[in-house]
Amino acid sequence: MTIDAHQEKLNFQAEVKQLLDIVVHSLYSNKEIFLRELISNSSDAIDKLRFESLSDPALYESDSNLAIHISYDKDAKTITISDNGIGMSRDEIVANLGTIAKSGTREFLSRLSGDQKKDSQMIGQFGVGFYSSFIVADKVTVISRRAGLGKEHGVSWESTGNGEYTVANVEKTSRGTDVILHLKTDEEEFLNSWRLRSVITKYSDHMNIPILMPKLTEDEKLTGEWETVNRATALWTLAKTSITDEQYKEFYKHVAHDFEDPLAWTHNKIEGGNIDYISLLYLPARAPLDLWQRDTHHGLKLYVQRVFIMDQVEQFMPHYLRFVRGVLDTTALPLNISREILQDHPSIPKLRSALVRHVLDLLERLAHDDTKKYAAFWSEFGAVLKEGPAEDFANRARIANLLRFASTDQDSEEQIVALADYVKRMKPNQKKIYYISADNFNSAKSSPHLEIFRKNNIEVLLLSDRIDEWMINHLAEFDGKSLQSVAKGDLALDELVAEDPQQKQEEEKKQQEQQHEFDNLIQKIKSILGGDIKDVRLSNRLTSSPACLVRDQNAIGPQMERLLKAVGQQVTEVKPILELNPQHTIVRKLHALIDDERLNEWTHILYEEALLAEGSPLPDPASFVQRVNKLWIEMFANQT
Ligand code: ADP
Repeated sequence: MTIDAHQEKLNFQAEVKQLLDIVVHSLYSNKEIFLRELISNSSDAIDKLRFESLSDPALYESDSNLAIHISYDKDAKTITISDNGIGMSRDEIVANLGTIAKSGTREFLSRLSGDQKKDSQMIGQFGVGFYSSFIVADKVTVISRRAGLGKEHGVSWESTGNGEYTVANVEKTSRGTDVILHLKTDEEEFLNSWRLRSVITKYSDHMNIPILMPKLTEDEKLTGEWETVNRATALWTLAKTSITDEQYKEFYKHVAHDFEDPLAWTHNKIEGGNIDYISLLYLPARAPLDLWQRDTHHGLKLYVQRVFIMDQVEQFMPHYLRFVRGVLDTTALPLNISREILQDHPSIPKLRSALVRHVLDLLERLAHDDTKKYAAFWSEFGAVLKEGPAEDFANRARIANLLRFASTDQDSEEQIVALADYVKRMKPNQKKIYYISADNFNSAKSSPHLEIFRKNNIEVLLLSDRIDEWMINHLAEFDGKSLQSVAKGDLALDELVAEDPQQKQEEEKKQQEQQHEFDNLIQKIKSILGGDIKDVRLSNRLTSSPACLVRDQNAIGPQMERLLKAVGQQVTEVKPILELNPQHTIVRKLHALIDDERLNEWTHILYEEALLAEGSPLPDPASFVQRVNKLWIEMFANQT
């Protein structure tokens, strides 16, 4: 049979070229990982074949010994990685090896600075797979045939990694993929059986697919036979005590396509109960770039009775634990399960709640035993975990214990305060956990609403993540104590109320007098600000600011309001209450002022400053500037 080669020269997608350059330059110091990446691809291809052949056994053709063969040729200076997995058709090879499909990768590339050194540090954050071949090779040839297609449907792909590649039709009798690396001149160290074997056992010992190399005689001559060089048992099926940390870490890199070591893992074998499974779950050290993208898939690799079924199965982890990577192997699901059936299979909720429990156990252990590691986890994934109280009602209390916040106790942006720490530091009469939420840490930290708390040494949590206010709404309480915004409601600080009834009475009397004294001013300000505010009243939260804005206890806060508007939601506007500090010189001066026109101007400034202090935009910034300038001019006039 003759085959029309139909050779084509094609250009890499611009992003591939860019990625290739960075990979080659930045991973040079760890170049042996090319082998791990290619073995990983072969193993995925074999897993896919196993799965597809469940419904179509003919895909095995006459070859059901699934394996990866690795050989080298000293004279030709090549290494060949060969698998009998699913293979690729011509269209697939062009799509898979010539373009980048993953949105995370594109996003990554768009963030590159062009500064090679900085960019190299970033590459560690995600898998580079096939392109790592070009670290050691100056030419790569791939010959592949999709399982199920005739031998005349083989395809060859070749590139020197310089922007172009060629594809052509070839005949290929065996199913699967051969990757042939033509080594660069100074990479000949890899043309050595022991070198290759040591890389394979280092990275791929645990894979459940045999990796074979040519068997050598004692004086290193070829015997013509092959021998398995890895253990070839699925790591997760082994006893925990027989697995080293190194092996756990290498396995993680394989399942998660990550270059970095994981932060921690939990390995559980549950047998003999009402549901049998083995799970090996990992916390990555670093958040992937696509963690916040809605359209990306997360999830676990699913095996049923050791047979790979699907990748990125999302059903086993709630959204707030979407960063968890790993493997679930169970007998509770049928082998022929499809994504659709998976949705409603009765075992899913059971497996899911069991796996969630393992992850929460792991996080608790980490938080308890290794605060440094937990802090590292929190800074990468804390904002995701904060979705937990809303999503997982049953585990709300456990999740609440895992949350960390910034607080006035350290006034540092680092989120390290647990709610339990806060509770321990509460004042004897304190019944609530206080918090402030703002758009960013600095405006939370310097909010006027904190003044009375700072003065009396009452701790306040400083919340500035976008999700915080929403999360707090779902959390509502911790350890029987409700969470109270310092910018909402009529603040009655029980912890500050005098115990002595006589003293209490005196204070109340003083307040009434003040109220009476300022009544006139309050009425005037109300009529000046009119529809902008709900009410004006004297404040007991301020010590050094003249005024602030507060909301009703159940109203949404200004950050939340802006957030909802930004995503196009209808929000009924909540008018704020203006609170005045009767001790403050500015308020006293306003009180004494007889000039109504000035009172009008200055009241507006007071109100607009209060808006600024809470991080809200001014309705008419230009008028504010004019008013302040006018004030200055008057001040200068008085000076001369
Ligand atoms: P990744 O493995 O992270 O998806 P790669 O760049 O390594 O990225 O590979 C891109 C795609 O090429 C893979 O997703 C797979 O579809 C295909 N591929 C790579 N190697 C093989 C192989 N040995 N057999 C079949 N398909 C492969």
